This record gives sequence, structure tokens and C-alpha cells, in this order.
Amino acid sequence: MSVTRPSQANIDKMRAYARKYAEKSGTSLHPDVSVTETVVEGLARHIELVGKPLCPCNFYPDPRAEAKQRRWICACDEMQKWKYCHCLLFVTEDGVPITEYLPEDHEGRQAYGLVRDPHPERGRGMAKVLEKRESTT
Ligand code: SF4
Repeated sequence: MSVTRPSQANIDKMRAYARKYAEKSGTSLHPDVSVTETVVEGLARHIELVGKPLCPCNFYPDPRAEAKQRRWICACDEMQKWKYCHCLLFVTEDGVPITEYLPEDHEGRQAYGLVRDPHPERGRGMAKVLEKRESTT
């Protein structure tokens, strides 16, 4: 991957997106601004490389092929289902990722223990759709 800095326009776009999505999902941006800026820059770089804000915290053998799938486009499936952000972009006010909804054998649960969701009424759009579907069948 190129290490050149993405354009300021794409950085600004992803920073605005992160602020908005944190609000919408009931999470906080990391208290250490440099963490947020690193992730925002990684997302902006992927927009330039593959046309989508692919999660910057994974290794992809073929980033272009990965970008055609939904699962690691920010906000990724793990965020939409479990409100878990392993990049630490969307966290609690203390800067730890929410792990409450993760399967117990998930690496996030093992790394951070049980971290409760401070705003269960917000976020997890994908999980809520699936739960609703299950309860009506
Ligand atoms: S882990 Fe998911 S929500 Fe967090 S930055 Fe990566 S893609 Fe976005």
C-alpha cells in the first residue's frame, strides 16, 4: 500500500463521517485524537486506492476484490451487528471498544473483557433488523 498522504478533501470527508456515525451509533471518537486521525487517514487512503472506505486495520490480499464486498466497508459488519470497532475509531468515552454483543470466543472479548454499551438504544442497525425478522418468524 502507498504511504502517501491522502487528499485533505478525503480526510475531511472521513473525519466528518466518523463524527456523524459516532453520534448516530451512540459511541465516542477516541479520547486520543491521534488514534482517530490515523484511522481516518487510513479510510481516506482506501477511498483513493479502491474507491471505498475499506477498514484500514486489516490486511487484504486483494483490496480491490474486498472493496466489492460489504463486510469491511466502514461502518463494517462487526460494527453494524455488534457495535465493535477493532480500529478504536468508535469506542466508549474511555477509549475502549464495546464488546457486550460479541460472541464470547471473539478476539475482542478476549482482549478487552466485557465492555457494556453506554447507549444500547442507538446503533446496531443490522442486528436490530435481524432480531426483528427472527421474532416475526
Ligand atoms: S473496525 Fe469497522 S467500524 Fe471500525 S474503522 Fe474499521 S471498518 Fe470502521
